[in-house]
Amino acid sequence: MQITFAMHMKDNGTKNSFSQSLLNPDTFTLTYELVPGQGAGGKRIDRLLEFARRAKEDGRICALSITDNAGGHPALAPVAIGSEIQQIGLEPLIHFSLKDKNRNQIESHLFLYQRKRFHNLLILGGDFPKATYYGQAKPVYDLDSIQTIQLIEQMKAGRYRHLPEDNSLDPPLAFLCGCVVSPFKMTEAEQVWQYAKLVKKIRAGAAFIITQVGYDLNRYEELVRFLRDQQVRIPVLANVFIPSPNVARFIARGGVPGILLPPALADLMQNGTKEDRLLRAAAMTARLRRLGFAGIHLGGNGLDFDDVAFVLDQAKELYEKDAPAPTTIHFPIAQGWSLYRSKGEQHTRLRPGTRPGSRPLHHLAHRLLFSKTNPLSRLFAAFCRLCDRHAASRRLLTFTERQIKEILFDCRMCGDCTLSESTYLCPQSGCPKKLVNGPCGGSNGGRCEVFPDRRCFYVRVYQRLDQGTTLDDLAGAVILPPKDWSLEHSSSWINYFQGRDHTTKKEN
Ligand code: SF4
Repeated sequence: MQITFAMHMKDNGTKNSFSQSLLNPDTFTLTYELVPGQGAGGKRIDRLLEFARRAKEDGRICALSITDNAGGHPALAPVAIGSEIQQIGLEPLIHFSLKDKNRNQIESHLFLYQRKRFHNLLILGGDFPKATYYGQAKPVYDLDSIQTIQLIEQMKAGRYRHLPEDNSLDPPLAFLCGCVVSPFKMTEAEQVWQYAKLVKKIRAGAAFIITQVGYDLNRYEELVRFLRDQQVRIPVLANVFIPSPNVARFIARGGVPGILLPPALADLMQNGTKEDRLLRAAAMTARLRRLGFAGIHLGGNGLDFDDVAFVLDQAKELYEKDAPAPTTIHFPIAQGWSLYRSKGEQHTRLRPGTRPGSRPLHHLAHRLLFSKTNPLSRLFAAFCRLCDRHAASRRLLTFTERQIKEILFDCRMCGDCTLSESTYLCPQSGCPKKLVNGPCGGSNGGRCEVFPDRRCFYVRVYQRLDQGTTLDDLAGAVILPPKDWSLEHSSSWINYFQGRDHTTKKEN
């Protein structure tokens, strides 16, 4: 896979310094993550803006990323800080989280960001919403990250579904979209899915990657090797996070979905000084640069710009000296699965399909009824179409489908059935984020981010796949389009045979 992307210019003719830095192979790109909290002002915001001013004076950080309701909590919208950062003269990299936005809100935000000349977006699903006003907010996840990147690519290319064919968005949208991946999963199923979904995001149009926070250098190396094997040439920024000792302890207890911080490292941070933590981050930065990362996405809490400048100075010195990496920056994931055998070139043999359950039976029934080529399927299609002609027969068939599928699949009657694409497990009831194109990054040890007492939906899917399924099979699978919610509560059988469901809309 060869990925190239054009140098981005803003619609006012100015250059996008972030994409310029990313595209230049001689430049090591540095970004820093800002986390706005609740409230429209105050000391926290003053500190963020002071950081931005100092970063601008210093000149090494080319973009400041701004989180979007981080951790599932409501916070000042990134557009507010982004505008002020832009006035300071730095490029904002806006986190575009999908947990709180339906597709109309997504489009509306894209128009807003275009208007504001925020051209760098990091597309991510986002942590599940937390309890706030009168309890937990309703999670949205209307589009997943892959579908959102596809939408943006279509809008950029003028192939946007809402517009008449002879029209296009004026001015055309110009976004540089990045995506995230975690190379730090413990189980085979989670890790294989992470890589497969990453390839799908790149197929959809992602132009750069930022990794999850992690402390296992072997896994960083594995990601570089995986991308090389896949011939993916888009820039990857490694995420180096410098937590305070208390935050490190919180993360080590599983407080932040998808981040594995080993207790031994939390102890080191607890017992060491701030300088130790900064030096460790500097050593990681130097090492990750040697591994071939295009840059570093830095972050932390309780840091001011002097701390970050110290990390950058030390990292440069260590890199130029090619100093050996200290052992205190490498914390292998205990009993973690790895895609490559430790030293050899060989790809680890995958073991999907260890718990196929009732899948073979459902697959047989599906082929008999929905293959459209065998006589039984043709008969069933004629019956469904006949039922669709009258409200009473349509209601009766819908009722029958609901009774059968609720018992067999815990079906939610979305009207656009994707059971056959997910080994006859229903993502609408099985995954709290209702993801249809692969998992989120929040699972931990094979357990769901939202309900840790359950296996992640995609771990269950993996265990039911055909035994010979490869990572390339998963990565190359059709990208399912967004659901048409006008079909909700109607018969997916009728919708399938009448050409109303996703099977007539698949696109890659
Ligand atoms: S089931 Fe898996 S993909 Fe869905 S929310 Fe839970 S961890 Fe994420």
